[in-house]
Amino acid sequence: MDRTLDVVAREAADCPKCRLAGSRTQVVFGVGHPDADLMFIGEAPGFHEDKKGEPFVGAAGQLLTTLLGNIGLKREQVYIANVLKCRPPGNRDPMPDEIEACKPWLKEQLDLINPRVIATLGNFSTQLLLGRKVGISKVRGQRFDWRGRILIPTFHPAALLRSGAGGVAMQQVEQDFLLIRKTLDELPETQEDPGEQLGLFS
Ligand code: URA
Repeated sequence: MDRTLDVVAREAADCPKCRLAGSRTQVVFGVGHPDADLMFIGEAPGFHEDKKGEPFVGAAGQLLTTLLGNIGLKREQVYIANVLKCRPPGNRDPMPDEIEACKPWLKEQLDLINPRVIATLGNFSTQLLLGRKVGISKVRGQRFDWRGRILIPTFHPAALLRSGAGGVAMQQVEQDFLLIRKTLDELPETQEDPGEQLGLFS
């Protein structure tokens, strides 16, 4: 049987691979279009996501939905996932061993969705994909080649909520979303065959 996103999501639903299996309500695998050109990668589910089983449905999620709407996109047109598929208790930061244990799920999502543009939200997903410990403020709003795809890091919407609506960070994120829009608009009609599995985190 071909491994589809649904098959992988069903497998992930019982994932026992880290301590978060003991405290989660449910696995929050991902949501959106299985062939999306654009994929967002956040950090980890929070309270509302853990209850609903869907990423980015709380306050940060509403802001993400608004930012998407501002560039003419609906949630159903993109794919949204997180580095961690389970909520860390009290929304604490993901731990390195949890990220390590969860990486194969994200790898499969990236392989199957095969997005042409990836937007990482905040430090955790940005550092994971870039493979180095760099602060989000240093790299946001830039385009990186990521295994034949375009990676655009930006601030996490939750950080924007903390810093206030009219702040500089919000203006920067708005710019970053315009860059995402422009990047999508400029994609060639046909996608070049990457010719190999993404080999993420190998
Ligand atoms: N923050 C995240 O990083 N992911 C979610 O799904 C919700 C909040």
